[in-house]
Amino acid sequence: MRTVCSTPRRETPITSEPAQPAPQRSLWRLFKAHFWPQKAWFIGGTALALLTALWGIGYVAVLDYVGNSLQSQMTGEGGGAPAGWIWTGIIAIIGLTVARSLSMYGMTLLNNTGVQRGLVSVQTVQYDALTDGDYARIAADASGNFVSRFISDVLSIREAALRFANNFTKSLATVLGVLAWLFWKDWQLALIIAVVYPLALGPVVSLGNSVRKRAKKAAEQTGEITSLLSEGFQSARVVKAYGLEGWQKDRARRGFAERSRLFLKVLSKRAGVDPVLEVFGGLALAALLGFVAWRISQGENTLGDLLGVIGAVAVAAPEVRALGSISAVAQEGAAAADRVYEIVDARPVVADKPGALKLESARGDVEFRDVRFAYPDGGEALKGLTFSARPGETVAFVGASGAGKSTVFNLLMRLYDASSGDIRLDTLNIRDVTGASLRQQIALVAQDAALFDDSISNNIALGRIGASTNEIEAAARAANAHEFILALPGGYDAPAGELGRSLSGGQRQRIALARAILRGAPILLLDEATSALDAESEAKVQDALTGFARGRTVLVIAHRLSTVRAADRIIVMEDGRAVEEGTHESLMAQGGAYKRLVELQLS
Ligand code: ADP
Repeated sequence: MRTVCSTPRRETPITSEPAQPAPQRSLWRLFKAHFWPQKAWFIGGTALALLTALWGIGYVAVLDYVGNSLQSQMTGEGGGAPAGWIWTGIIAIIGLTVARSLSMYGMTLLNNTGVQRGLVSVQTVQYDALTDGDYARIAADASGNFVSRFISDVLSIREAALRFANNFTKSLATVLGVLAWLFWKDWQLALIIAVVYPLALGPVVSLGNSVRKRAKKAAEQTGEITSLLSEGFQSARVVKAYGLEGWQKDRARRGFAERSRLFLKVLSKRAGVDPVLEVFGGLALAALLGFVAWRISQGENTLGDLLGVIGAVAVAAPEVRALGSISAVAQEGAAAADRVYEIVDARPVVADKPGALKLESARGDVEFRDVRFAYPDGGEALKGLTFSARPGETVAFVGASGAGKSTVFNLLMRLYDASSGDIRLDTLNIRDVTGASLRQQIALVAQDAALFDDSISNNIALGRIGASTNEIEAAARAANAHEFILALPGGYDAPAGELGRSLSGGQRQRIALARAILRGAPILLLDEATSALDAESEAKVQDALTGFARGRTVLVIAHRLSTVRAADRIIVMEDGRAVEEGTHESLMAQGGAYKRLVELQLS
């Protein structure tokens, strides 16, 4: 086989590290990128919000009309049968209520649709960035932290978007409409409201701002508690076996308490908004009452005017409160949006370089030259490793745990970039080819079989998506898995996810092996792949592997030294270096580190 490369159709650009975005911006960015495309829904929602506001102002007009009619009635001026205006008033109020409810309902539906569609787009972009980004990032964090980003952060964004879509236009239009109406009726009265209410703006905005920092902390803790919960349930076996229920419950309880403490801190600020507005609203109302009462005593105002003014304040006050709390909710949304952009903006450290080659099919010549590597938050795991492996060869890595064996695999798959030295595949530096096409040349079977919640057959097919049923079965036969799969209820269609726990370690491992065999890649990486097997199935799998390995490059990590005896070469690793290299016989004859390891296992 020859190495075949092609230039890529599309290059993944290496973006420069983005400047830390101004925090207020992330909500705006989120809006432009994900919610603006749903504008049709929001335009409809806004139109209905304006209608809702209009009906609200209608209440004020009706109250004013009723007030004035009452006034005329009492002073005997306009006369007219009382039934006339009272009925008009009642029917108008009922009509307005129905119209307002309908437009509010429509507004909520349209806005919710727009928001939900926008959220799908946010989640998708976030998930894609995480999935395509550095393996190091996923490896470094507890899975619960990521889960909470998709669930609780998205809830905060939803809350902010919905509050904004549903309340902002409606409330602002209502307040402005009522004010305009008041100005038209009586500018002096309107002026009192227009001066007193805005005084509340300062405290309300500062409360909103302090919500943000607290909301961010609370969101981080939500991630931690999600991890704690999933970890606890995943390790239920050990928890029970060691009688750790008490310890586990205690940890959870402390997590819940911390969560409620942090959320109370957010709420205490958020809850401050209403009282502030209540106070300023009360002040405005008191000033109005005083003013109107004074004018009534001067004969400049009537009781009817008073009813109209009270109606106006009654309609406007809840809308002012809604506007006030939008700021706090928006700040919580902004904290969540910041977290979204932390993920989306992070530049992958391991990225395809511009013009990277797309490896079509490799021969499988692997070479490490003086490779050094340190994990982002760890010491040096490889300290100048040199080795090579040719197609048709099986090279085994042995050595104490922590010696750097798995790191060799991680670097060959380019999950991380070596700090120095060269890693070559068919003489090409692996940094010069695309990551995806490099990994296409590799089949990994790890200690953890990684079965997904799908049928057995689809789980095998993940090795090469699009493989035919026959190919899947052939791979399963080669992995010595066909018989036991047929014996399962449902056979190849049996759900691997549900079954996962009822399958034995050896069975799971053979499914993973079938997946790797189906991939048909020139390089096979076996990371403790047979460690879960009993001697009999291990022998079977070794048989299968021997057939499959012919002509391929096989790198093996095995703790059990008996499984690597037949390897063409054994590399003994110690503290990030290869300290011995040779066949089992030559290494035994050498009487060094390998011999000591073998003797240790035999004893
Ligand atoms: P082996 O496979 O031989 O047991 P590894 O290659 O897993 O050894 O680990 C080599 C060294 O790198 C060890 O000291 C280990 O603690 C460290 N290490 C492994 N993975 C990580 C990681 N994700 N982050 C930081 N350090 C790591």
